[in-house]
Amino acid sequence: MPPLLPPDSTAAGFIQPTLPPAPPRHFCTDCGVSRTAQPKRCGQACQFIQPDYPVLETAVHGRTRRLPGQSVDAPAEHSTDELFFGPHERMLQAALARPLPGAQWTGITTRIAEKLLQNGEVDAVLAMAPHPDDPWRPMPVVVTRAEDMARCRGMRMGYAPLIALVEPALQQGYKRLAVIGIPCQIYALRALQPELEREHGLEKLFVIGTPCSDNTTTERFHEFLALISPHPEDITYLEFRADYHVEIRMRSGEVKALPFLSLPLSQLPPDFFPMTCRTCVDYTNTLSDITIGYMGGQGQQWLLVRNARGQHLLETLGDEVVVKAPGSAGSRAGAVKGFLKNVERAAGGLPLRRMPNWLRPLVSWLMPRIGPRGLEFARARVEMKALETMVHLQREEPARIKTMVPEHVIHLVRPYGLKPEASTTPK
Ligand SMILES: Cc1cc2nc3c(=O)[nH]c(=O)nc-3n(C[C@H](O)[C@H](O)[C@H](O)COP(=O)(O)OP(=O)(O)OC[C@H]3O[C@@H](n4cnc5c(N)ncnc54)[C@H](O)[C@@H]3O)c2cc1C
Ligand code: SF4
Ligand code: SF4
Repeated sequence: MPPLLPPDSTAAGFIQPTLPPAPPRHFCTDCGVSRTAQPKRCGQACQFIQPDYPVLETAVHGRTRRLPGQSVDAPAEHSTDELFFGPHERMLQAALARPLPGAQWTGITTRIAEKLLQNGEVDAVLAMAPHPDDPWRPMPVVVTRAEDMARCRGMRMGYAPLIALVEPALQQGYKRLAVIGIPCQIYALRALQPELEREHGLEKLFVIGTPCSDNTTTERFHEFLALISPHPEDITYLEFRADYHVEIRMRSGEVKALPFLSLPLSQLPPDFFPMTCRTCVDYTNTLSDITIGYMGGQGQQWLLVRNARGQHLLETLGDEVVVKAPGSAGSRAGAVKGFLKNVERAAGGLPLRRMPNWLRPLVSWLMPRIGPRGLEFARARVEMKALETMVHLQREEPARIKTMVPEHVIHLVRPYGLKPEASTTPK
């Protein structure tokens, strides 16, 4: 039996079913499928086993992304960027006119879900709240009251079994759902969606996705915080910004921007990022109805409206949101090639930049000014992620390349000389 939801009476106002422990799985981010009544569905639902993006893109958006040399029913101006970012109808730079306290950026993600609950368009929202014992630890919750969405604001680092909450929520009678999730969770949700509709009464589903990269366990993330501050327990916010700085906010209200190049990456263990997150193939959450990130936003949020449901989600914000066309500047080629060299040199560990300390401040100053910016920055990050996937799989799990790497990733790495064939390079 899947776990039943307790009555809507938790002290926090959230509903949290008690879940069974996750069975051991190789290449797993504990998205929640393994904790359901039918854990064998991992075989069909897992992003890391045998994903089929064209089939799911067609089911969700009515078409696949445009790949080089293919013609699909998509506006011509999207032909290049769909290779990087997946099917979309519009891309926007965006911000809430009044940013919400506690939000990671301005709070577009949680505000859309809040509006859906307010308007009575959904019965419940599945999202991550901070764990009461550790605010950095994600805790999946079912939210039924609009006012409780505020407490889901902000980014946590780590994994938590969001998808295990879908069937208990449906059993409880919440048949119209919105789910906020990262790509490996949303892949599983979309793969199971037909069964959830057919056998569990799912009537309506809105998917609000965020991009995701470089996730790790909450425990490991605490090690990172301890390296960047003598008072890691006072860090309340962290974000890798598109201007090549990490922003941290302290409990005292102090805000610091640390240049990427000054981060103590060499002090982190080589397995700091698990293989799942080093080889994941869907940076921009292409199966969501709307993706809400920052990479192409030049200091603001970046929206990818992927289909009519996504457009509706954006419209629920009315004039609360201010949007404009995203910009693009600089050229990514040099940065991406340099990144590839570092990944290859790091021999399976973290991509370290071998640069003398005296040069770092100068390069940190130059990068936001002459490096790729806006959409070009987002393209660079997507290419870097695709290259990382190929290099790590070739080195550590070559047999997976055939089943796990979708065609769009092959297209992305080809200009940099990488091919899908398993490398013969010894580990
Ligand atoms: C681990 C991680 C890595 C990310 N990396 C990138 C990136 O490289 N580039 C980029 O453009 N964007 C990235 N994002 C997304 C970026 O943080 C979002 O753009 C942002 O959270 C949305 O801002 P907001 O103010 O609208 O969100 P808010 O309104 O503050 O809402 C944030 C939402 O994120 C969800 N959430 C928080 N932590 C987790 C988690 N650990 N797992 C699943 N869901 C969670 C919560 O449910 C919450 O609803 C990442 C997000 C995560 C969780
Ligand atoms: S990530 Fe999800 S679908 Fe994949 S093995 Fe883990 S629990 Fe199963
Ligand atoms: S980086 Fe990829 S695999 Fe890791 S948590 Fe994010 S979406 Fe999942």
